[in-house]
Amino acid sequence: MFWDKDTETLDRNSLHNLQLQLLRKSVEQAGKSPCYGKMFRSEGISPEKIKSLDDIRRIPFITKDTLRENYPYGFLAVPKEKIVRMHSSSGTTGRATVIFHTAQDINEWAGLVARCMYMAGVREHDIFQNMMGYGLFTGGLGFHYGAEKLGAMVIPSGAGNSRRQIMLMQEFDTTVIHIIPSYALHLIETFREVGVDPRKDLKLKIAFIGAEPHTEETRLRIEAAYGVKAYNSYGLSEMNGPGVAFECQQQSGLHVWEDSYIVEVVDPKTLEPVQDGQEGEAVFTSLKREGMPLLRYRTRDIVYRYPDPCPCGRTHRRISRIKGRTDDMLIVKGVNMFPIQIEKTLMAIPEVGTNFLILLDTVDDNDFMTVRVEVSAEMFRGDMKGLEKLRKMMADELRSELLVTPRVELVEPDTLPKTEGKAVRVIDNRKQWG
Ligand code: ADP
Ligand code: ZN
Repeated sequence: MFWDKDTETLDRNSLHNLQLQLLRKSVEQAGKSPCYGKMFRSEGISPEKIKSLDDIRRIPFITKDTLRENYPYGFLAVPKEKIVRMHSSSGTTGRATVIFHTAQDINEWAGLVARCMYMAGVREHDIFQNMMGYGLFTGGLGFHYGAEKLGAMVIPSGAGNSRRQIMLMQEFDTTVIHIIPSYALHLIETFREVGVDPRKDLKLKIAFIGAEPHTEETRLRIEAAYGVKAYNSYGLSEMNGPGVAFECQQQSGLHVWEDSYIVEVVDPKTLEPVQDGQEGEAVFTSLKREGMPLLRYRTRDIVYRYPDPCPCGRTHRRISRIKGRTDDMLIVKGVNMFPIQIEKTLMAIPEVGTNFLILLDTVDDNDFMTVRVEVSAEMFRGDMKGLEKLRKMMADELRSELLVTPRVELVEPDTLPKTEGKAVRVIDNRKQWG
């Protein structure tokens, strides 16, 4: 049940002591980089000044912009010859940032991913098909090394090429997959096209879904279509990649590995800590990284912390699924909303297919929102009344979730653009004022 029982179930007191020790070490290591060296000198920060975990608050926050300003080597804390690998962020919100790893960093990271996979039930005899992009993106290689460390057999299929993915699953009896949730939804269509029912024709048991926000409704759809348990995997390149926070078999919140990271949740405006259970921005500090330690990195990801311990026995605190990034928030007709609210509403409606798109325009100086939704092909074969009824029902459900009434357009399967990587859900064509 546990990959590293002593660490995973360490009592809170010992975990705090461990974190404090590691934080001091991490501050010391970070100070060797040009950027932190300068920052620590001007702020008067040194390992000795960190007397309790609360002293983390003496350290300034950093953001993607700080990384961009010090691109590429400003945060490097070891001589370049000690670096064995580079990765980068996906560049979802602007120019990609880069991260460097020593051999020890890679080994630690693989250990964390192995721990996550084991927690979900993956064992040596499993056949693991890694359907994430390999390359600079951390999702592919991050899981690859973790799975090998665990001893599972890896099929490094990478992203895309849906028919080949299905063929590999059939021929090699894949039991575990790692897949982006929006792509997992698209693939359901391909299964239908090739006449494979994953529940009957394949040996799948477990799916790891992550790299982008998704709802419980999406998870349930994936679980039902594939006949698997789907576990939420959270990570970010700035903190290695996958393996930062992960669901256990309770599927209720993601354990943050606190022997390797400190997570704070702060109000994104005041930057003050928020209470457990209250939403805020997740801020991470790496505790073990050697090549490029990052302290108090503002993720912009919105989460809340669970107040209570997990029934699984692990003592590491849980965070909620990610609602989106602070910059994903849309303001439509003065109302704040997240794309994930639309996904939640749509994915709960059985006739809805596997893809949707949110379009925002300015019409007569007002915001105009269209939600374009793929619905099942059968809906287009019946009379138009059924379609109109469905459209109305969707508009009503969306209005009660969003408090804004969007125009709903229903389209046939395979009409909307597909991505193999992170889904693009919003096209904002609105005029920018002032
Ligand atoms: P980028 O920040 O450019 O997208 P990364 O590849 O480093 O590049 O992606 C990390 C980000 O992806 C996280 O900060 C978060 O916004 C998102 N993400 C990763 N895993 C999840 C997940 N399980 N749920 C929601 N969002 C996730
Ligand atoms: Zn748990």
